[in-house]
Amino acid sequence: MTPEFDLIRRHFVRPMRTTPLGPGDDCALIRPSPGHDRTPRRARGNAGRRQPAGRRPRGGDAEERDGRRLRAAAARIAVRLEVGAVPRWVTLALSLPQVDHDWLAAFAAGFFDCADTFGVDLIGGDTTRGPLNLCVTAFGEIAAGRAIRRGGARAGDGIWISGQPGRAALGLADLLGKVRLHGSAHDECIAALEQPQPRVALGAALQGLATAMIDVSDGLLADLGHIARASGLGAVVDDAALPWAALHAACTDGAAARDALLAGGDDYELLFCAPPEADDALAALSARLALPLTRIGAMQSGDGVRLVDAAGAELPVGRRGYDHFA
Ligand code: ADP
Ligand code: MG
Repeated sequence: MTPEFDLIRRHFVRPMRTTPLGPGDDCALIRPSPGHDRTPRRARGNAGRRQPAGRRPRGGDAEERDGRRLRAAAARIAVRLEVGAVPRWVTLALSLPQVDHDWLAAFAAGFFDCADTFGVDLIGGDTTRGPLNLCVTAFGEIAAGRAIRRGGARAGDGIWISGQPGRAALGLADLLGKVRLHGSAHDECIAALEQPQPRVALGAALQGLATAMIDVSDGLLADLGHIARASGLGAVVDDAALPWAALHAACTDGAAARDALLAGGDDYELLFCAPPEADDALAALSARLALPLTRIGAMQSGDGVRLVDAAGAELPVGRRGYDHFA
């Protein structure tokens, strides 16, 4: 067996759960559920993403840290099928500078740990030589016509966010030496960055409750802008309603905490809209999933995203999110 196929067989071929034919042949055979739509979604990780040259973390082995982050995050990021779908299959395109079986074994352990958590089969992929780079595509299923898209919000809907957005951005700011986090706050923010929790159960449970949904990958205000635009509405965010407490407890630099919550990505929390009639059901869902759901504003006619204080006066906003080409 050639080194390439030995590598694939050793690290990436496992028994399939529900798939008739997995990696190894010319193509896989999947068995879709009748009456469901398929939802492909891709996530990519290359070493040092969002960390410009010369601004890599100091004092540790940057390559090793990047590698750890990649293997922890790749599959988790891909299975975030937030339209409410249930993930079923993933493919993995892997580019490696060299064959390092220890690294591959650790990566595969993390990858399949995630695959097991979400019940997905790795059905194929590609393995090439080159700079370290991963591209994972996840395919989920959702009952036909049930997908919650960005454009479904209605005027009067509440705007909601899950969990604690901003922690991953604070973790990255710490790695970049821009802030210093201490103790458990440090550990939580680094975990949010390196092991984001895709809100798969919440996304599926929001079917029939949410009118529009997106996950916050690039920044809360930037991603809310996508919902507003797609829905043909404006969004008003009440600054005082945002979940500030944990970020201010983690970081004494108030400006950094603001930037992390308003413009930080990488937590993959769900941002969604729901009519006021859904409030009780959302409170019950939050309790059932043991996951905070915070109402942070409302959709109204108009356009754009405004941040306002308690008196309704518009507040200035710096950065709204991350742009790969900015
Ligand atoms: P091709 O020649 O069409 O590119 P390959 O010879 O590269 O196919 O791959 C052989 C088989 O191994 C295919 O079924 C492919 O899907 C699978 N495969 C390759 N790399 C990976 C990987 N990293 N993870 C899972 N399956 C893989
Ligand atoms: Mg190939």
